[in-house]
Amino acid sequence: MLQIPTYQDVIAAAARLDGHAHRTPVLRSATADARYGAQFFFKCENFQRMGAFKFRGAFNALSKFDAAQRKAGAIAFSSGNHAQAVALSARLLGMPAVIVMPNDAPAAKLAATREYGAEIVQYDRFTEDREALTQRLAQERGMTLIPPYDHPDVIAGQGTAVKELIEDTASEGPLDALYICLGGGGLTGGSALSARALAPGCKVYGVEPEAGNDGQQSFRSGHIVHIETPRTIADGAQTQHLGQYTFEIIRRDVDDIVTVSDAQLVEAMRFFAERMKMVVEPTGCLAFAAACAAGAAIAGRRVGVVVSGGNVDLARYAALLAGG
Ligand SMILES: *Cc1c(COP(=O)(O)O)cnc(C)c1O
Repeated sequence: MLQIPTYQDVIAAAARLDGHAHRTPVLRSATADARYGAQFFFKCENFQRMGAFKFRGAFNALSKFDAAQRKAGAIAFSSGNHAQAVALSARLLGMPAVIVMPNDAPAAKLAATREYGAEIVQYDRFTEDREALTQRLAQERGMTLIPPYDHPDVIAGQGTAVKELIEDTASEGPLDALYICLGGGGLTGGSALSARALAPGCKVYGVEPEAGNDGQQSFRSGHIVHIETPRTIADGAQTQHLGQYTFEIIRRDVDDIVTVSDAQLVEAMRFFAERMKMVVEPTGCLAFAAACAAGAAIAGRRVGVVVSGGNVDLARYAALLAGG
């Protein structure tokens, strides 16, 4: 039996994160409101420590380690934001961390992860099985494996962002709709736990890249659908399937899963840069891009948008904005 996390777990995670994670700002945009006839509330996790919400889940999970687990440390496989989240959390908690990364991972990501003090173990994406390698290292060194999304403590940690969003906008009236960037579902699952507890009337939407709509297919078919690694600029949402925990929460607590194209992501990225002076990575634009496309469904509504992260190589960012 899966022990599905609850909103009580989100509350406990919030207490652990207090004083360690930033309570990120909720920003407004008069231009967005006027253009779409809605009131937008942007929860800006691009301003979170290490540049994305993933710090919340990783720090919560590592905080729960017992003495023996702390001594041996944490291990994760990721070339993205989860790597930096585990590395930084381990450093703050004074424990070792190993991150397993492909040897063709971007130099900037390798450097950032190393800067946070983690040991990086590289592997060949084309010849080696990263999960088997990670499992073997975990066993050899007695380290605890922290997956990027399908773990109750990770999901509960991610849920604290929307808990804050709802608390910090309560004086404006309840949110009518909430849009969340969806990859493996840790953020969407955690967010849905908070939304169902704090804003029962709020519609909750997970947003995927069009090319990688495994979550939408799973939601509609009632079982976890696996796909090939999708081709999309939203590299944080190139997951091939939801997790067991995340799927159970999403099918129970999410209203729908919608998709957006890469062109829509670039448009949202440009809006954030031009109008809000924010660098948002392509994956972090999913939620706003979907809200913009919702048309009459959001007119006159109060709409929460989770801006999930801002880590993007600047040369790539410039090329995307230039239409390259
Ligand atoms: C990981 C990530 C996501 C997707 O989160 P899941 O919990 O895997 O659904 C979205 N945006 C950013 C910036 C991420 O790093």
